[in-house]
Amino acid sequence: MPKKIPIRQCVACREHREKPLLARIVRTPEGTVQYDGRGKVSGRGAYICRSRACLEKAVKSRALSRALETEITQEIYDLLDSQMKEAEQQ
Ligand SMILES: [Zn+2]
Repeated sequence: MPKKIPIRQCVACREHREKPLLARIVRTPEGTVQYDGRGKVSGRGAYICRSRACLEKAVKSRALSRALETEITQEIYDLLDSQMKEAEQQ
């Protein structure tokens, strides 16, 4: 049987994509928020396109705070932004 690729929705643009094409933003059990390019970090996650435009939109529209049920401060946004940049350069 062919392996079915799960589909997830980007919280910013609402586009449905295959899970490996999306990145995750995770709120860990410790309460920190981090970028998860490989979908491995445990915690409450929100899926997002691997694009800074969608990251910005997810934060500004507050879709990300709603999905993660936590406040996304400017500091967290800056951190996610740099973590995304780093991850996508590998
Ligand atoms: Zn998107």
